Amino acid sequence: SSVNINELLEQILKRLQPLAKKQNIEMIYESFRPVTADVDEVKLSLALTNLIENAIKYNVPDGWVRVSLNADHKYFYVKVSDSGIGIPEDALDLIFERFYRVDKARSRESGGTGLGLAITKSVIQMHRGAIKVHSVEGEGTTFNVRIPLNYIA
Ligand code: ATP
Ligand code: MG
Repeated sequence: SSVNINELLEQILKRLQPLAKKQNIEMIYESFRPVTADVDEVKLSLALTNLIENAIKYNVPDGWVRVSLNADHKYFYVKVSDSGIGIPEDALDLIFERFYRVDKARSRESGGTGLGLAITKSVIQMHRGAIKVHSVEGEGTTFNVRIPLNYIA
């Protein structure tokens, strides 16, 4: 059904604000266009929540998370960038695998199962979309998501 993506992202950011506040992480939201899209609202909300929650969890104290929304005639684009710990290059292909976590000890403290990104990827693929990651260790990570405005299931 038709979903207001700007509102969806604002809801998610509001819900994650307390988690960000604990580490004094600044949450920035940039919307370049009003976007409505034909998506599964519950599943897409879960997929984007996973990305933004990761950007907070794997960040550094006093860091930032920036979420931006844009669109063209065919797709909308959600970009989630963080100032966090980054992901080693040899792990970039593995993070979308179920139960994979980069540093077992470090990740355990922050909790989680390693399912988040596997779910995110499958929801995006279900919408005929795509997800790409770019990361530099010690600097931060960016996830780029692209989803068709109108998808036929
Ligand atoms: P869950 O999401 O199930 O609670 P999780 O966060 O460990 O657990 P994923 O979301 O699938 O699992 O992420 C897999 C791993 O990828 C994480 O454990 C972490 O090591 C790494 N990772 C994911 N996002 C980031 C990020 N933004 N910055 C740095 N590392 C990340
Ligand atoms: Mg996660």
